[in-house]
Amino acid sequence: MSLPKIEGIYNYCDRWCERCTFTSRCAIFEKDKKHPDQKTRAFQERLGENILKANAILRKAAQDAGLNMEAAQARIDESVRRNEQIEIEVRQHPMMTLSAQYIVTGREWLKRQPGMLEHLEDLKTQLTIGMETNEGAKRETRVIKESLAAIQWYLDFIHDRLSRALEGKLMSLEGQGMNADGPRDHDGSAKIAIIAIDRSIEAWSELFTILPEEEDHFLKVLSMLERIKKSAIGEFPLATSFMRPGFD
Ligand code: SF4
Repeated sequence: MSLPKIEGIYNYCDRWCERCTFTSRCAIFEKDKKHPDQKTRAFQERLGENILKANAILRKAAQDAGLNMEAAQARIDESVRRNEQIEIEVRQHPMMTLSAQYIVTGREWLKRQPGMLEHLEDLKTQLTIGMETNEGAKRETRVIKESLAAIQWYLDFIHDRLSRALEGKLMSLEGQGMNADGPRDHDGSAKIAIIAIDRSIEAWSELFTILPEEEDHFLKVLSMLERIKKSAIGEFPLATSFMRPGFD
């Protein structure tokens, strides 16, 4: 018997489905599996066209029903204007500029991976001359692979989740958010961002022990991540106590 879906689990996970132990209990995973075409550009374009058509139909129906479309439109315009303002505030927030810088720095390092090729060559030589065991070499290559995968996965994710969290917080301060008294969605987004930061710190630290000669770079990245984390905790003090459905 299959277990029921966990409501909202996908809102606070790290979206790394291939490593997730809750795939059978996640509605988003099921949906993506059944409708893979929903990720394509053509589908997004069709969806956009359909929304425009639906909008026109709704406006016509509202006019027929004698609703004050001008007042409704003014409210919509004001809400759009405010949302645009919030987007600007989010983009300009120091935590967001720092997490955007982290993406650039991390991406640049991943592209070049200075010292890595030489290190792997050394490892091969040590293995050949018996200074390193097969097991030791395998363990080290596994650590490198896992660390690179984690850094890559969370590189944009941290920025994305923090952005969602900040946007949610600013909206809820204006009363636009829902569920003001219950667990707050933006704290959940901030929590998974903080988890992703911790995992990234762990991954970079692993690489640092393997490539100590790249100290300057690793210390710079680690300091960036620590500052982003500090800022996130300051901005979302309740994030770490947020209970994520399924995970906590
Ligand atoms: S809960 Fe798991 S399966 Fe669902 S979206 Fe998140 S990572 Fe993927």
